[in-house]
Amino acid sequence: MESKEKAKTEKPEARKCPVDLLISELHQLALQTHYSCEDSWYSCPKSENGCYNDAYPDDECNCGADEHNKKVNELYEKILSC
Ligand SMILES: [Zn+2]
Repeated sequence: MESKEKAKTEKPEARKCPVDLLISELHQLALQTHYSCEDSWYSCPKSENGCYNDAYPDDECNCGADEHNKKVNELYEKILSC
């Protein structure tokens, strides 16, 4: 089915749209969720269930997801502006 559709759309401008969709999908897949442990003492404060350990502020990520997602979003913006 898919290969037949590809044969129909040989124009270069027709290829642009699916690539945008794939990049968007890749962007969603690349984004990380905050670490969540069964024992919420070890969870990231920004995870769905929060962190039981009061030593960490509620709004500060300590699992690296924020840092990772920042890089992913920057890269995504760069790709879109190409
Ligand atoms: Zn986190």
